Amino acid sequence: MNAIILVIEDEKDIRDFVAKLLIDQGHTVYTAGKGIEGLDLVEKVSPDLVVLDLNLPDIDGESVCERIKDMRPETQVLMLTARDTSRDLARGLNLGADDYMTKPFEPEVLKARVHARLRTVDSDDEMLQVGDLTLDPKTHEVKRGEESIDLSPQEYKLLHYFMTNPNQVLTREMIIARIWESSPEIETRVVDVYVGYLRKKIDKDDNKPKLIHSVRGFGYMLKE
Ligand code: CA
Repeated sequence: MNAIILVIEDEKDIRDFVAKLLIDQGHTVYTAGKGIEGLDLVEKVSPDLVVLDLNLPDIDGESVCERIKDMRPETQVLMLTARDTSRDLARGLNLGADDYMTKPFEPEVLKARVHARLRTVDSDDEMLQVGDLTLDPKTHEVKRGEESIDLSPQEYKLLHYFMTNPNQVLTREMIIARIWESSPEIETRVVDVYVGYLRKKIDKDDNKPKLIHSVRGFGYMLKE
């Protein structure tokens, strides 16, 4: 799985090292040196996983973790810390961190832990449904009612993202991070263009309720 990962770590050497390791694994990586900056990025790019240092200069990693889990409970948090007592471990996990690693760590161990966390995110290949729109992740078949809809790979990815996050506002930044992960410099209006393509295919029947809604000033939402 090509995931979106955010690394929040104030020590530049470690931050760069972890980022490079994960980029080499094919992931899209964002980095932050402070807790506040990290939380802003969580909102903007909706990472699948956050590698989070416990000791940060502004707000501590525990509070950052709590806020991440408040904002997006499905985000996996892998705590990274120099502390290694079992009391700290228990504290980290109590705060909702999904896993915990002490520094220094072996690159292979980090890779394995990240992989294990992401597997829990990616395990779901059940049929998705919103209203009479269905998407089968196994066959990539999309239907509105009984009618099959042909989508380009990019449109399919976009619709899959909408359907796994129904009734939620998806900002243009979140959509770019998810769909065009390898080219973060892409302009936000590209999102509008692709949402337009998708609308022409899934919301073309005037006798059916529209499913893709614009949320002015924010982005888009898929809902019945
Ligand atoms: Ca630190």
